[in-house]
Amino acid sequence: MHILLMGPPGAGKGTQAANLVKELGVPHISTGDMFRAAVKEGTELGKQAKACMDAGKLVPDEVTIGIVRERLAKDDCKKGFILDGFPRTVEQADALNGILKELGLALKRVLNINVPAADLVERAVGRRICKKCGATYHVSFNPTKKEGVCDDCGGELYQRADDTKETMENRLSVYEASTRPLIEYYEKAGIYTEVDGRQPINQVTRELLQALNA
Ligand SMILES: [Zn+2]
Repeated sequence: MHILLMGPPGAGKGTQAANLVKELGVPHISTGDMFRAAVKEGTELGKQAKACMDAGKLVPDEVTIGIVRERLAKDDCKKGFILDGFPRTVEQADALNGILKELGLALKRVLNINVPAADLVERAVGRRICKKCGATYHVSFNPTKKEGVCDDCGGELYQRADDTKETMENRLSVYEASTRPLIEYYEKAGIYTEVDGRQPINQVTRELLQALNA
């Protein structure tokens, strides 16, 4: 079961990926983890990626694609994976097709957890985090019993600096502009499914699984 998982920042992709891993027994492969592992293992591509990141430069596409190829060629990906964070462009999607072909694999489905931008902004702006234990709350959807105080540990709550309307709107418009061509790409391929991420977590998981069984 080879799956691509997409979704805007704040749509709950991490939670859903964890649920899918539990249900399907395949590895979750995020770009961030893949890069960290390649750097840690000190592979040739990992060294090149690290050199770019240390210099504050973008990692070139051929390095990124090489790291993806190395990871997807590992044994644990034979029966499936949940790929997350790659591809980000149509060129990378073409490269992914090439890699999968080489490996004798094919994408079963591209799942997109969709949440309208206005909802994501509201979620972010109301988010509060405990300084002590890291528990997260929301001023409207999941408030603490006492304002500004963690229910679990009594710690003080704070708001992350980038959880503002402007930052979120910016991030989301960048995300949307870069994702739109990919959505069209996979729609054309006939393997694209969108699930409404505003539903309860378990319902989103259920619909993602349904899309895989269709
Ligand atoms: Zn706490």
